[in-house]
Order: sequence, then structure tokens, then C-alpha cells
Amino acid sequence: MKKDGHIHSPFCPHGTKDSFEKYIEKAIELNFSEITFTEHAPLPTNFVDPTPEKDSGMLPKDLTSYLETVKELKQQYKEQITIKVGLEVDYIVGYETETRALLDIAGPVLDDAILSVHFLKHNDTYTCIDFSDEVYLDFAKQVGGVEALYNLYYDTVLKSIDAKLGRFKPRRIGHPTLVHKFQLAHGEKIQDDSRIVEILTKMQEKGYVLDANSAGLNKPFCKEPYPPMHMIEYARSIELPIVFGSDAHSVKDLHQHYETIMK
Ligand SMILES: [Zn+2]
Ligand SMILES: [Zn+2]
Repeated sequence: MKKDGHIHSPFCPHGTKDSFEKYIEKAIELNFSEITFTEHAPLPTNFVDPTPEKDSGMLPKDLTSYLETVKELKQQYKEQITIKVGLEVDYIVGYETETRALLDIAGPVLDDAILSVHFLKHNDTYTCIDFSDEVYLDFAKQVGGVEALYNLYYDTVLKSIDAKLGRFKPRRIGHPTLVHKFQLAHGEKIQDDSRIVEILTKMQEKGYVLDANSAGLNKPFCKEPYPPMHMIEYARSIELPIVFGSDAHSVKDLHQHYETIMK
């Protein structure tokens, strides 16, 4: 079954305004039998988004309308394709209570969801590590180097797997090696396979699912999926369930590198 479990939408404040219908029609054309819209959930209202435009998550006022819209489309297209109502929820250290509260509200209408780490905490401030190479490299200096940054990222992903976020906690972990996004900008070769194995093993043991995310292949400083191919193979070898995710922020990104990842 061909499935894309990670798709953004016109509700994404930093994505394109490509319509839901265009995404869905392209998915049907590409023979996907199932897709999940996983828009960035609103960030906790007491969390200050560190990105300049403060546009990492959906506006809280848009949540209901987003969920309703996807629910209607699901009905409308049900003869042609299975559409799941989803969210990509941020795991932010220190904001577990707020995140759980959001999940308690949205959870009953969700079919599917992803838990992702984009923000890292250091010295009581938060940095969005996938925003730009400048921000990333500067943050690496602050934390004591690229290797330390990798470890901070993986430690945070491990915490996200352990976090108590209630009964609607997402079962899929988003792009667990997003910290590789600027690997060709820093140019260091970090031996982190054992850390990634640690994460995948924990996911398998605790019944989580991997977002095998192709977006990194198109990023000029990354050129590999999240996690890298040999780690996707490793996940298969330990029978960790895998769901392909294009992480499309525009219709043209749908399906990107599907054959590479799902071969
Ligand atoms: Zn996004
Ligand atoms: Zn993400």
C-alpha cells in the first residue's frame, strides 16, 4: 500500500498556499492509497517561538478550522483515497504539560499524528535547529561543537519517546535525525550511528513508528533522508514499523524520493 504520512497544507504559516485539493488530486494521480495531513500544531501559547517570523506552528485560532477542513475532505474523497486527519506536534523540553493539554483537546478527532523535535533547549533558551545554516552553526558553537549538538538533539528525541503526553500521544516519531540537515555546511563527520540505533531500538521496544522522511534529500546541506538510508535499513531489520513521509510543504514535494526510501 502506497502511503504518505507527513504532508503539510495551506494552514502552514511557513509553507505554500497550495490548496488541499491540489495535494489530494496529485496523491490520487500518484496512486497513493492513503495520506495524512500533519500540519504543525499550534505551539504552546506560553512558548516564545525563536524563529524571526514566529511561524513554526499553526495559529491557535486556526486549529479547529484545519481539523474540520481535513475531516470534510476525508468524506468528500473517501471513494478515491483514504485521508487521515493529523498533526505534527512539537516536543519541547519543559512544555510537556501544555503539549499534553493540546493533545487532550485535539486527540479525539485525530486519526494519526507525528511527534517531532525542532527546538532544542540550552541555558534556558530555545533554538529552532532547522531554521537556517547560520542559526545552526552559531548554536553548535554555543553548545560546545557539532558533536555536542548532535547529542543534545538525540537526547531530546529520547526524551520525547519517554514523555508522558497522555493517551493521545503521537505514535510516530518525526525525522529523528533532523540534526543532519546542515551536515554539509559544518562538514564534520560525526560517528553517530550508535545514537541513532539507540533511538530506533527504543522506538521499537516502546511500540513507536518511524517517519522515514525524504525531505532531507532535497536540502542542499543534507542530501540524505531522515534517518539516513542505512539506518532505515536497520529499522527494517529490527522490524520497527516505517511510514514514508514526504514532509511536503508544496504540491510539487509530494512523493519526493518515494522509490529511494521504500525500495
Ligand atoms: Zn514545516
Ligand atoms: Zn518537522
